[in-house]
Amino acid sequence: MKPTVALVGRPNVGKSTLFNRLTRSRDALVADQPGLTRDRHYGHGRVGEKPYLVVDTGGFEPVVDEGILFEMAKQTLQAVDEADAVVFLVDGRSGLTPQDKIIANRLRQLDRPVFLAVNKAEGMKHAIAGAEFHELALGEPLVISAAHGDGVRELMELVLEGF
Ligand code: GDP
Ligand code: MG
Repeated sequence: MKPTVALVGRPNVGKSTLFNRLTRSRDALVADQPGLTRDRHYGHGRVGEKPYLVVDTGGFEPVVDEGILFEMAKQTLQAVDEADAVVFLVDGRSGLTPQDKIIANRLRQLDRPVFLAVNKAEGMKHAIAGAEFHELALGEPLVISAAHGDGVRELMELVLEGF
């Protein structure tokens, strides 16, 4: 059985960019507009000998009403529920946000492995890019650049280690 890996995070952190790199497809819609990817997207990939199924999630409902603004969308919760492992993406350039903290609180309650990936960190010193995200208490932040590919293979090797 191929393990399923869900990509989770607030809008615009680079989930679809990472999905595209992991699946080498253009299935996922990449856009500057937050919240544009509303559907889940599935794709297949492989690291070395290990195949996986990856799920790109929209993460949040579009900002329509205050009540759901900070709630994780149902689809995301479902994707996370079905996944064997979760990659939680944050943005190393914009830094830690309140939304990141809320998502982290939800993910810490899961009984499956969560990997914290600090994206958009090309050209940044790893220790500096990751430093403030230790606060999320999700282990050592893994510093990557989905756009440039830095650290992506290392991330997936760790994610798939147990499978
Ligand atoms: P999503 O909303 O989480 O799916 O984010 P997207 O994949 O649509 O990316 C949002 C924006 O961040 C786009 O403009 C991407 O080009 C940009 N982006 C994604 N990954 C990186 C990265 O590694 N470095 C930089 N500098 N920008 C990135
Ligand atoms: Mg997206």
